[in-house]
Amino acid sequence: MEFIDLKEQYRRHREALDKALLEVAGSARYINGPQVAELEERLASFVGTQAAVGVGSGTEALVVALMALDLKPGDEVICPAFTFIASATSVILAGGRPVPADVEPLGGTLDPEAVRAAITPKTVGLIPVGLFGQCAAMNELEALAEERGLWIIEDAAQSLGAAQNGRRSGSFGQIGVTSFFPAKPLGAMGDAGMAFTDDPELAARMQCLRSHGQTRRYEHAILGFNGRLDTIQAAVLLAKLGFFEEEIRLRDKVAAAYGDLLAGIEEVRTPRLLPGNTSVWAQYTLQAEDRDGLVEHLRSREIPIAIHYPKPVSAQPVITDLGLTRAPAPVSDRLSAMVLSLPMHPYLTAADQSRIAGEIKTYYGR
Ligand SMILES: *Cc1c(COP(=O)(O)O)cnc(C)c1O
Repeated sequence: MEFIDLKEQYRRHREALDKALLEVAGSARYINGPQVAELEERLASFVGTQAAVGVGSGTEALVVALMALDLKPGDEVICPAFTFIASATSVILAGGRPVPADVEPLGGTLDPEAVRAAITPKTVGLIPVGLFGQCAAMNELEALAEERGLWIIEDAAQSLGAAQNGRRSGSFGQIGVTSFFPAKPLGAMGDAGMAFTDDPELAARMQCLRSHGQTRRYEHAILGFNGRLDTIQAAVLLAKLGFFEEEIRLRDKVAAAYGDLLAGIEEVRTPRLLPGNTSVWAQYTLQAEDRDGLVEHLRSREIPIAIHYPKPVSAQPVITDLGLTRAPAPVSDRLSAMVLSLPMHPYLTAADQSRIAGEIKTYYGR
C-alpha cells in the first residue's frame, strides 16, 4: 500500500504521459516552450482568473507574488500558525515578517478572528492556506482584508481543484498560488508552481520577476531571479489536466468511504468541511486521541501514514528566532498533537481502506 500511489497513476495514464515527455524531449524547447503558455491559459480558465504565471515551485510562486505586491522590510504578513512552513518562510525570503495566527478547529484553516487580533499598523497582507484540500473562510477573510486595506495571497498549494460557494480555489485574493509538487492533487514529475491573478499589472510584474526582472532581452528593470516553469513539467501537467477532474471525483469517493468506515469510532474525528466548501482531499487528516500510539500501531501493520504537521509554524525555530512575541495558538498546538493523515489518492482500493479502518478499530479495541 502506498501513501500516495504515483506509480499507479503513471501505469494508468502512461500513454499520454510518455507522449508529452517525448514531445518535449524531441522539440528541444526546454525553456519557455509552447506548453508553458498553454498550461497557463488552461489553468487560468480552470481556476477562473484572467492570468496565470508558471514558476518553478509553490515556494517560488509565493515569493514572486510577495515581490510583485512590493513587500518592504518590516512589513508584516499574517499566515496560519498551522500550515506547511513555506507559507510563512516565503515572507522572510521576500524580506518581510510572517505573523502566525491561529486556525479554526473545524477545518484547521486561518481563523478570521485570530487574524483580526493579529493586525498591527505594519500589517500589509494575509496568506490564508487551503489546508488539506479545502479553502479557508475566504468570504470573511476577503471582507476583513478589504476593511483594513490589506491584500490577500491565497495559498492554494493543497486546494487547487476545490471550490468555495462555486468559486475555485486559486481565484481568491489579489493573487492565488499553487504547487505542482508530485504529491499535490495536481502534481508534476518534479517541482513546479503557478500564480493566478485578475490584475494585468501584477501578472506582468510576476512574469518579469520570474525571468531576472527582464523587461526586454538583457534589460533588467527590477530585481528578479530564475523562477521559470520547465517546459517538460508544463507538458506533464497538461497531460494530467486531461484526467484531473476524474481524479477529483475519485478522491471524493475515497474520502466518503473513509467517512463511512470510520464513523462511530469515538476516539477519531474525521475531517469536516467549512460551509460552502468542497475539498480536493490533498490529505485525509484525522484528529485522533492517543495519536502517537495509533501511529505506532499503523506503522507496525505497514500502513503508511504521515503527520501534517507535528509542530506549528509558530513554534518552529526559523519563526521564533525572528523574536516576534508569540500570540497563543491553542488550536494549532492541539492539532499538531492530534493529527494523522491516512493514505489518500484516487486509486486507493476499497480493500485497503477497510484494512486501514479495521486496524484503527483494533487499536481502540472496537
Ligand atoms: C507544498 C506547499 C507549498 C510549497 O510548494 P513547493 O512546490 O513544495 O515549493 C506551499 N504551501 C503549502 C500550503 C504547501 O502545501
